[in-house]
Amino acid sequence: MGTKQRKAQRKRQVGLHAKRLSEHDSRTKAAAKAKATIKKKKKDDQVKEAPKAHSSLFFQFNSNLKPPYQLLLDTNFINMSIQMKLDIFKSAMECLLAKCVPCITDCVYGELEKLGTRHRLALRLAKDPRFQRLTCQHKGIYADDCIHSRVEAHRCYIVCTNDKDLKRRIRKVPGVPIMSVARGMFKVERVPEQIDKVPIKSNWGKDK
Ligand SMILES: [Zn+2]
Repeated sequence: MGTKQRKAQRKRQVGLHAKRLSEHDSRTKAAAKAKATIKKKKKDDQVKEAPKAHSSLFFQFNSNLKPPYQLLLDTNFINMSIQMKLDIFKSAMECLLAKCVPCITDCVYGELEKLGTRHRLALRLAKDPRFQRLTCQHKGIYADDCIHSRVEAHRCYIVCTNDKDLKRRIRKVPGVPIMSVARGMFKVERVPEQIDKVPIKSNWGKDK
């Protein structure tokens, strides 16, 4: 190969290199930008489905709740109230100042049966005819899921539990009060104000 030929070849090669777009070329960036905007547009076009608000709810106020209140009991709530020596009927009535109907779902009952002899008192309590039994028709036997799905479908219950995780889950459902066992009494959260703040001893006329 002569020097002339070599030079010509070199020139061609240089030319080839020069034709390639650099990574930081504005034209490549423009193409990427266009792609990104298309992607964003597609994302914006997607319909977001928010859960529909219940017809009985006005903000957080649930007009379905009125006495007699239906209490959805959890296994650990029953065990705790036995441990604290609290009568469920009496304590719930003292807490809400109204008649309450404790309800036990099949899943909770099954869980109580599975707990064994250490919790046989809870099982015996669950067999009380004053407790309302709720039959389940869903898949699975996990009590937390059972209670959560029930509450989502029908906003007419007060959930009774001492379980932190279940409480956290129920708090995300608007309009569902939570009752739990505190020291020596039941406490309830997220009920409409007029139930929550009624003083047991009336102070009316004692101001002066
Ligand atoms: Zn169930």
